Amino acid sequence: MTLDVAWAVDWTRRTADEVFARRSELNELDRQIGDGDHGENMARGFTAVIARLDALEEPLGTVGDVLKLIATTLMSKVGGAAGPLYGTAYLRAAKVSATPALDAPGVVAMLEAALEGIVARGKATTGEKTMVDAWSPAVEAAVAGSTGGADAAAVLVSAASAAELGAVATIPLVATKGRASYLGERSAGHQDPGATSTAIVLRAASDAAA
Ligand code: ADP
Ligand code: MG
Ligand code: MG
Repeated sequence: MTLDVAWAVDWTRRTADEVFARRSELNELDRQIGDGDHGENMARGFTAVIARLDALEEPLGTVGDVLKLIATTLMSKVGGAAGPLYGTAYLRAAKVSATPALDAPGVVAMLEAALEGIVARGKATTGEKTMVDAWSPAVEAAVAGSTGGADAAAVLVSAASAAELGAVATIPLVATKGRASYLGERSAGHQDPGATSTAIVLRAASDAAA
């Protein structure tokens, strides 16, 4: 089984729906350790993404085309940290997905490229209480799944579950990157908003493949 352009579009629409549904939750998480706008930032970005998808006159040809549309839209519409971070993630992911469909190794390559983009942009490593703490275990789980012979959809299930666990595991961490690092020790005890939105994005990818 492979994941095609229709899957990528469905992934995008499901991400938008879930971001809209959980907008206040993401704002509230960001209010605890940041400036309270992460839900707004993501919702503004994905509103623009959906508008662009709806306005397309011809269907996109590759998975990478869908990811590139998301990347350029998030970069231009979302300020703050999340816009450039997700923008770079989707752009790097697009570059390795210039094909009509992804198999399991293709999904792994896409997720690895996204994580590399985030790290290149934000210079965070694991344990710093950022979205890297959701992306990194997701990539590890995807690699393990693909190596073990899982198909593309099963790889995404593993990645999404690992991202959700990774997001919850940010709760005790002290932030050393991003706005939350200004709080120092007081950032402990709260779940990172960007790790939470990462889990949303990857669960949407997995649900769209089910
Ligand atoms: P801002 O902090 O500018 O208001 P957002 O609230 O939209 O931006 O996004 C905050 C999220 O961005 C954090 O929860 C964290 O996951 C992520 N983030 C911030 N800085 C970095 C970084 N250097 N590397 C990776 N992720 C980061
Ligand atoms: Mg914020
Ligand atoms: Mg902000």
